[in-house]
Amino acid sequence: MKRMPFIAGNWKMNKTVSESIDLIKQLKADLSRVEGVEVAVAPPFTALYAVRKELEGSPIQLAAQNLFWEEKGAFTGEIAPTMLKELGCHYVILGHSERRQFFGETDETVNRKTRATLKQGLKVIFCIGETLKEREAGKTFAVIQRQVTGGLKDISKEEMRSVVVAYEPVWSIGTGKTATPEQAEEVHRFIRKKLEELYSREIAEGVRIQYGGSVTPENVKGLMGQENIDGALVGGASLKSETFSKIVRFKEM
Ligand code: PEP
Repeated sequence: MKRMPFIAGNWKMNKTVSESIDLIKQLKADLSRVEGVEVAVAPPFTALYAVRKELEGSPIQLAAQNLFWEEKGAFTGEIAPTMLKELGCHYVILGHSERRQFFGETDETVNRKTRATLKQGLKVIFCIGETLKEREAGKTFAVIQRQVTGGLKDISKEEMRSVVVAYEPVWSIGTGKTATPEQAEEVHRFIRKKLEELYSREIAEGVRIQYGGSVTPENVKGLMGQENIDGALVGGASLKSETFSKIVRFKEM
């Protein structure tokens, strides 16, 4: 099955509203004639509305970086799925390793968020990945298996069509240490096998699995050349149009 490549930029806690508008204007110009690849950007919450307005009529999709699973109520500081839906978000990034590491997210909370997001008809970029300590202890596959089964618990086959998995080895995020294409492919293949066991061959073959971790214009082509790598979740290199648009245009390189 041919899967549409999907490149997403995670801006993390970067860019004020005016900086976000500048970046999205530049991206729209630089990516105006790109075809055959799906693109999304995930600005901080404060800039989502302004970026959405700039994106009217553009194929670039909007993603949020997190949400809370409740529909509304006394949850100071949190954002509900319906709020993001009305705002025009297409995707929500969930389970990012920074959320797991700094904000105590677990497979269980990631699962609650994933279910709430899908229930609203939003799509999920579901992040998983092992730490350096886990890799060195030979636990990579056990960790991935736990994150996949725990994080996707009670997600139906139908809902899985709205999930993109992002494999992001924690040791590779923001460190400049990219996994080699072969290292990444080995884990991507394993993830797809797990999805086949949990769902079906058809579902597993249809799910896009992005790689994330120090992706740059220089290394994206090698990664995208692997059979089970269907895209990239890009942090640092998504903060400048020059680098992000080169990554999106990986086919031309
Ligand atoms: C990320 O945070 O999702 C990420 C992959 O970051 P970077 O590209 O900066 O390593």
